[in-house]
Amino acid sequence: MAVIKFDTPLQFIKGVGPKLGERFKDLGLFTVQDLLDWYPRAYEDRRAARSIASLKPDELVSLRAEVVNVKSFILGRSRRKVYDLTVRDETGKIHCKFFRVPYKGYFERFQPLQKVRVIGKVTHYRGQIEFHHPDVQDDTPDLVADDDVVVPIYPETEGLTNRQLRKLIGFVLDELKASQRELDPRVKGYVPSDRLPKWLKEKYDLVDRFEALEKVHRPPKDATKDFTDLKSPYHRRLIFEEFFWLELWLASRKEGVAREPGLPFESRTELVKKLRASLPFELTGAQLRTFEEILKDLTGFKPPHPMHRLVQGDVGSGKTLVALMAALVAIENGYQATLMVPTEILAEQHFRTAEKLLSPLGVQVGLFTGSLKTSERAQAQSLLAQGAIQLAVGTHALIEDAVGFKNLGLVIIDEQHRFGVHQRARLKEKGVSPHFLVMTATPIPRTLAMTVYGDLDVSQIDELPKGRSPIQTRAGYESHRPKMIEFVRSHLKAGRQAYFVYPLVEESEKIDLKNAMTEFENLKQKFPEYELGLLHGRMKPDEKEHVMREFRDGRYQILVATTVIEVGVDVPNANVMVIEHAERFGLSQLHQLRGRVGRGSHKSFCLLMMGHAVSDEARTRLKVMEETTDGFLISERDLEIRGPGEFLGTRQSGLPGFKLANIVRDVRILQESRDAAMEVFRRDSSLVTSEHKWLRLQLLDKHGPASLAGIG
Ligand code: ADP
Ligand code: MG
Repeated sequence: MAVIKFDTPLQFIKGVGPKLGERFKDLGLFTVQDLLDWYPRAYEDRRAARSIASLKPDELVSLRAEVVNVKSFILGRSRRKVYDLTVRDETGKIHCKFFRVPYKGYFERFQPLQKVRVIGKVTHYRGQIEFHHPDVQDDTPDLVADDDVVVPIYPETEGLTNRQLRKLIGFVLDELKASQRELDPRVKGYVPSDRLPKWLKEKYDLVDRFEALEKVHRPPKDATKDFTDLKSPYHRRLIFEEFFWLELWLASRKEGVAREPGLPFESRTELVKKLRASLPFELTGAQLRTFEEILKDLTGFKPPHPMHRLVQGDVGSGKTLVALMAALVAIENGYQATLMVPTEILAEQHFRTAEKLLSPLGVQVGLFTGSLKTSERAQAQSLLAQGAIQLAVGTHALIEDAVGFKNLGLVIIDEQHRFGVHQRARLKEKGVSPHFLVMTATPIPRTLAMTVYGDLDVSQIDELPKGRSPIQTRAGYESHRPKMIEFVRSHLKAGRQAYFVYPLVEESEKIDLKNAMTEFENLKQKFPEYELGLLHGRMKPDEKEHVMREFRDGRYQILVATTVIEVGVDVPNANVMVIEHAERFGLSQLHQLRGRVGRGSHKSFCLLMMGHAVSDEARTRLKVMEETTDGFLISERDLEIRGPGEFLGTRQSGLPGFKLANIVRDVRILQESRDAAMEVFRRDSSLVTSEHKWLRLQLLDKHGPASLAGIG
């Protein structure tokens, strides 16, 4: 048989027939390299098998047991089907719950009395311990011989057992080891197992790649807990590399931007000075610092290149003003600026703010939304094309329609935390190279920001305006409702306003909408002495805007709304927010919603009303909300609770899925890989030296020719 190399197709390997070959293809595994990158997701430590009675929450354990039965039931309101596999040993019974079916026919394989091994994390749920999605394997007699070892557990897949995988990977590793010794690096088809430059491996103390692969797939007999927790130097090496290819790509983009010709702005700040003089308050130190950073980007690059900056600032930290100041610098330089936001309500609100603050300075502001009348739009567009409108505020449509600017110099994107690398790239394809400012309140944990926005510079507004007192938050049950209502009433009596927010979950939009409407009627009965407005996503934009305006101007004391008010809305006189079915919201959404209050000088309150059957996880979320108002802390906790995949929605963010790496667990490694990627470009900005040319090929391979366009 021919020598096995990293690029050998899997079907050419002894023991891989057509059937298995097809299975591999389904899993996206084509070559030996792919197979070796199919990492164990956990290890079963058979040296310390456990009894059911001895299990404690949060332990990762392995035990031998026998099947009692498999049942399925429907979980409460969520209407999700849950499978429950009960197993027992001499010491007791435990439930293994599955909230999705690993693969078709998975549960049919279990028969009462069947011997199995269960490997998983012990979970505490409603007062008892159980497993959620453990690995369950047949405990066949021929496995008993392995009883004193640490066994890799691969992701569960149909038609491919862990035993098969272990055997095949072992075989491939042996063959590779033999062939790597023989192969000459100059021979065509030779793929070195290690593609990282020597200096980098030394500096970051990385073990050899092949050794890492081997150890990860074949755990040493004396493997420690660090090893089974995926924290060994071998795991670190592979995790580092996974992050590194992403960070290298982001660094190459950053390098590309640094070479792109930009608009030559001068440091003109007369308008900014006038604006500041007109404000009834002082800017915070953080607002000033952020503005300085922006000004430096706009004017300080030699030769000029476009600013690519992200401003992160918690809700209410005053990002809008910073954006307007940046816009003024562009305008004073003779360019146009645009401020893009995700919703029409927000566009309308920013337009009003901008007009109020900037028209006294002689700046012409225009509004661009989908709901403009045709004639209005035509007029606005012609003013924009002539350059008469200097600041265009609007929704996404603004840039997607390629509305014609005369000389666009600055693009500001507000409240778009999901605006990822790829969308920005697309904007550029329009052939404009203006400065870019992205503003987000969704406090993305720093680590995640590094991956999603890795090619942006980051400013943080980490200070709230003076005189804000923290919002007090309490979670309550149905039994607290009468008290809650009286509490709201007392604040309305004092002249304040309140929000009542209802969830709107996509699948059952109609039902939820009905809830909001029914509740609207109920609340009207409860507050006969006040005016109430209703706001929901099914309303026409101008209806929404009307309701919003009435609330802002104080003609409604209560605004009943679905989550359409989530982002950016600013009504300082409103100081009480009631969130119904708070358990249905995610942490970042709750934080965003809560940010609608606490915007003025009045002490503010957020009441989280819980429905029935609230899960432990939801309770944890609400507790986090009670304990802190710090958006960054909340986002870190959110990331821990939900995991990175759900946190951003991979598709929208352009965030790749990692095989072994975990952004939460491996933060330190992520940071190191980022530093390393930056250093590569400092040493060799076009990746041309012999030690870096592999990096160049990898970029090309993983991200296409465009990834090299910027770096020449
Ligand atoms: P966000 O960062 O959530 O977008 P906004 O820009 O909407 O916050 O600002 C929230 C409120 O705080 C607005 O009413 C704004 O006028 C006010 N504000 C902004 N900066 C300051 C400041 N330095 N001092 C006092 N109030 C401020
Ligand atoms: Mg805002």
